[in-house]
Amino acid sequence: MDCIFCKIVAGDIPSKKVHEDDEFFAFHDIRPAAPVHFMVIPKRHVASLLHVQPGDEAMLGRLMALVPVLARQEGLGGGFKTAINTGRDGGQEVDHLHVHVLGGRRT
Ligand code: AMP
Ligand code: ZN
Repeated sequence: MDCIFCKIVAGDIPSKKVHEDDEFFAFHDIRPAAPVHFMVIPKRHVASLLHVQPGDEAMLGRLMALVPVLARQEGLGGGFKTAINTGRDGGQEVDHLHVHVLGGRRT
């Protein structure tokens, strides 16, 4: 599949890894929009929130629960912003579900 984030998960494209486990991968954004800016993605290719299926609820819950763990690990214990751009009209550029985590200054 011609998906840049699947290639990052596979190690075919290098990334600055924040976290990896059986189900999720997290890495720094190549064009950071804040002093700390990383993304958390499921390893399984899910194109966007618009492509979520019945049965994905538990995965989405684990994904969101992982965000504050990694945020604290990256020094964002004081708070952060999250964004999930979805679809053409939502400004999504990479069609693999990802949660942006941004922080490091008051915004
Ligand atoms: P979105 O607009 O929500 O789809 O965001 C996609 C994000 O992926 C953008 O913020 C890009 O800077 C980021 N991005 C694209 N290619 C890479 C890459 N190879 N490594 C890390 N981040 C990337
Ligand atoms: Zn993918």
